[in-house]
Amino acid sequence: MKSTTIEEVAQTYGIENWGAGYFGINRQGHLIVRPAKGDTKEADVFEIVQDLVEQRKLSSPFLLRFPQILESQLNRLCLAYEAAAKEYEFSGGHFPVFPMKVNPRREVVETFLRDGVKQSIGLEAGSKAELYAALSLEQPPESLLICNGFKDETFIRLALLGVQAGKRVVVVVEKLNELKMIIRLAKETGVTPLIGLRAKLYSRGSGKWAASGGEAAKFGLTTSEILECIRLLRADGMIESLKLMHFHIGSQITDVKRVKNAMKEAARVYAKIRQMKVEIEYLDIGGGLGVDYDGSKTTFEASINYTVEEFANNVVYMIKSVCDDEKVPHPHLVTESGRVMTAYHAIFVTSIRDEIETFAEDIAVADIDDDDPQVIYELKSLLDGINSKNFREYYHDALDDKDELHTQFNLGLVSLEDRAKGEVLFWEICSKALQFAHAAELHDDEFEALRRILASKYLCNFSLFRSAPDAWAIGQLFPIMPIHKLDETPTDFATLVDVTCDSDGCIKKFVDLKDVKQVLELHDFNALKPNEPYYLAIFLVGAYQEVMGSFHNLFGLPNEAQIVIDADGRYHVTKLVPASKISDMLSFARYDKTQCVENFRRLLSSQINIGKLDASKASDAIQQYEAAVGGSTYLE
Ligand SMILES: *Cc1c(COP(=O)(O)O)cnc(C)c1O
Repeated sequence: MKSTTIEEVAQTYGIENWGAGYFGINRQGHLIVRPAKGDTKEADVFEIVQDLVEQRKLSSPFLLRFPQILESQLNRLCLAYEAAAKEYEFSGGHFPVFPMKVNPRREVVETFLRDGVKQSIGLEAGSKAELYAALSLEQPPESLLICNGFKDETFIRLALLGVQAGKRVVVVVEKLNELKMIIRLAKETGVTPLIGLRAKLYSRGSGKWAASGGEAAKFGLTTSEILECIRLLRADGMIESLKLMHFHIGSQITDVKRVKNAMKEAARVYAKIRQMKVEIEYLDIGGGLGVDYDGSKTTFEASINYTVEEFANNVVYMIKSVCDDEKVPHPHLVTESGRVMTAYHAIFVTSIRDEIETFAEDIAVADIDDDDPQVIYELKSLLDGINSKNFREYYHDALDDKDELHTQFNLGLVSLEDRAKGEVLFWEICSKALQFAHAAELHDDEFEALRRILASKYLCNFSLFRSAPDAWAIGQLFPIMPIHKLDETPTDFATLVDVTCDSDGCIKKFVDLKDVKQVLELHDFNALKPNEPYYLAIFLVGAYQEVMGSFHNLFGLPNEAQIVIDADGRYHVTKLVPASKISDMLSFARYDKTQCVENFRRLLSSQINIGKLDASKASDAIQQYEAAVGGSTYLE
């Protein structure tokens, strides 16, 4: 009985569809995380959160980081390329690099470098700051350090420092000018990096980032510029340094057809350059391998119509066919997949704090009395008489009455009390009408819209702008579900709002297999015991969200816990990074906290001087003000 409920709940949230084998529900109805797909070891996420709250006295929201999932995703990617190379007799090697812009956190980058030694994973830096961090990290011996992005002289000098430190640095030329700078600095310093050329392909990706590729793309060299680069390098005797050709057709490619076309074109460009006696060894295919956020396996923008293995097969097959056709050696493949490597490893956990009422069910309407306006009488009789046969008609009448009520109010004919009474009656009619529509399995637009309006709005203790910014910026869908009570059928429908003072801080679209849900199934918040917490998790936030999140409203970073699951299936919190305090946010906005206290003390003094405050109260106040700076930016 209980296990069928759990299965149904799992289907409601689609966890098997988008979870990639990492997430599930245990017999207690709690969310579990596995360190690898199909692993029998699992950690109970609700237990972890309770541990953080009760033993470690931390408060939500939390970012939970599972480094084993990073390792697991890296292995999956590498195995896919290995298998594809075997299958298609491809003789080039595979050199994965992690693009730091996707998640530059030291914990993430170091995990890859530590666990990826056998995969010889390298790094990709797109800015001076990323490169600076990369230069400090020990990389596996054969691995590459790829420098992408627009470069100035300082950037290139940093790259040359990397060469001196023994790293295999590839400076990828995005603009002709960059190559001229590289040649000049190499001559000046006597240090030569490996050089790559970024090609602008005619082929485009698909999905939201399609414009990263194609003729009008922001990055890359045109065909004539590539030829000019080769001419310059030959003239300066540096052609031996040209070792890599790069392209990137955009992130989250939804359609595998686009991958095939791009590979076909890129491999031709590579082959034609090789035939010019330029010994390019590496073909860097960029990122773009997507994540199936809604689990629908379609070309919808939140999905992808291929697996990691199919992506790798297509890449390898296409490149191999073209190279064989052109009779050039197979290149080593460099992959810069970031999203698929990191998205799964981080889960954001928040709690529902309150409900935002559309109408207050628990505030009883005063009785209807003789003095009430006609329109109130009418609403009351609609409410009393609504049934399964007349609900549509009665609902329409109620809409007219509500308009009438507001018209009369604006004319001064209806009191504030009567307006309140009328509004409550109206919403009760709506709620009944919706129940009848639901029972009749009626799903027309009118009642679907009403369902959205009447859906509960839950206030969650987090900032969308901090923790899932793409949900706001580009309407990205993330899977969301409770982490406990999953052995009970959710009976409520809700949308979520965050604690920022921004009406954009809300989530009104949820993943669904066939569609996009307008409301999320949740357990009835009002039926919880007093002080009983209700935790929700937002999944697949490990790629781009942390670094793109902002301090809107000065809400800071959440408490962060790194969790490792051992061979016996026990979890260990291996690292805790405390949440931002109010003081951190003050510094961010360039306030000096000592100055704040001084200024506040001065304000209190002037109140004492004019006799409005006594000295002991003022001393209390200043103490409280000073102490508050160490507090959390979120609701406590
Ligand atoms: C952003 C970016 C990537 C990462 O792309 P994903 O789709 O996240 O794998 C790789 N290479 C370059 C040049 C990029 O700009």
